Amino acid sequence: MSYLVFARKWRPQTFSDVIAQEHVTKTLRNAIESERIGHAYLFTGPRGVGKTTTARILAKALNCVNGPTPDPCMECDACARIAAGGHLDVLEIDGASNRGIDEIRDLREKARYSAAEGGYKIYIIDEVHMLTREAFNALLKILEEPPDKVIFIFATTEPRKVPATILSRCQRFDFRRIPSSIMGKYISEEAGKEDITIDSDALSLVCRASGGSMRDALSIMDQLVSFTGKEIKGGSVSKLLGLVEADLLADISTAILHSHGARALDLVEEALVRGYSIEELIDALIGFLRNLLLSATGASGGITDLSDSEIALIQQTVAGVSDVHVLNILRLVGGASDQIRTGASPRISLEAALMTASKLGIAFGFEDLPAVVETVAVSAVKTNDISEPRVVPATDTVTEPGSNADTKKIIHTESMPSNGASVKTDENNEIAEKDESEKEKEISIIRSVSGLFDMIPENR
Ligand SMILES: [Zn+2]
Repeated sequence: MSYLVFARKWRPQTFSDVIAQEHVTKTLRNAIESERIGHAYLFTGPRGVGKTTTARILAKALNCVNGPTPDPCMECDACARIAAGGHLDVLEIDGASNRGIDEIRDLREKARYSAAEGGYKIYIIDEVHMLTREAFNALLKILEEPPDKVIFIFATTEPRKVPATILSRCQRFDFRRIPSSIMGKYISEEAGKEDITIDSDALSLVCRASGGSMRDALSIMDQLVSFTGKEIKGGSVSKLLGLVEADLLADISTAILHSHGARALDLVEEALVRGYSIEELIDALIGFLRNLLLSATGASGGITDLSDSEIALIQQTVAGVSDVHVLNILRLVGGASDQIRTGASPRISLEAALMTASKLGIAFGFEDLPAVVETVAVSAVKTNDISEPRVVPATDTVTEPGSNADTKKIIHTESMPSNGASVKTDENNEIAEKDESEKEKEISIIRSVSGLFDMIPENR
């Protein structure tokens, strides 16, 4: 199957078929019904969301044998030829390759003649922002005195590049990215009609990879069917798109979050053996860490595009971890990504970043825990109280960082001994000093790991 198969087969043919753009199609239908048809329309929005498709439907609505009608019949000669791209009076022009003054002058000449078939003469200019300044000036002259029954539909992904003089003469419609939920439902229904099954993980990956563009989603679907046949699973989508599997990302993240640097490096080795590139791995890891952060902060809105199983995996990975900890790791790994991509030794940079990230729990554990914690830790050592809640010397406390809330609770209860006596003895001070020097040593090691550590304040 080729790319064109799904994109053509599933192309919406009527206003009601166009998905996720009801704010546009409803207005256009109303305008046609009330015979308020403009001379120039500007369709803006990301690529692959239905701008050109809607332009063709509008052309059918105007030139259908029953037209103008909001519901073109789809059967008459005009409807059939517009759908096939062969109607004499509906001209599609690619603004990117016909951007000069000569092409627009030519257009202007021809626009003066009325439609060969008696209906509307419709010019659909795609990527209109690509026109030159002179071409826009020539176009403006037509728009200032539009010939009767000539309609321009401009489509663009970059409306800011269209001159204000043109914009002011157009009815503007902003097309939106297609939300994953709507896109997923549509693809799964259409796929079902072709006896193609696609599981929810695969569907979610396709929708995410499409970036809200139906054209991209359908292109991926075509490739998937060629690649795996009619039964599409999450794993095959990952392979085709070079997406790093979520389980691997979860394992690496867990290793970093819980200060198991060596484990993280082993997993990098495993990822490379499986055929992922360093770039794919770092991109995917940053995306995964972002989702962990959203989950840790409770801002679930941004991860609703994921499948249920992916959301569960993320929640499981980040359980009991503070959002600040995830944020610091994300900043570090994100900050290192340029160096990893462009440096002479990407693998070493990646390993250094992950190793450093796995030390963040230690460094920031100290940062998050004020001096009173050392008193707490010492009191715990003194009384050998290592039962629940677990209170251990500070270095251990932070190698397994719990949530901030938990830590604070422990600090609060333990720092107020029930007998009211101070736990600060000479012995305790000695241990505290020792901890202090251990802490300095640990931080200086971390700083020396790489130059990635600009977020740790120097006065620590
Ligand atoms: Zn018709």
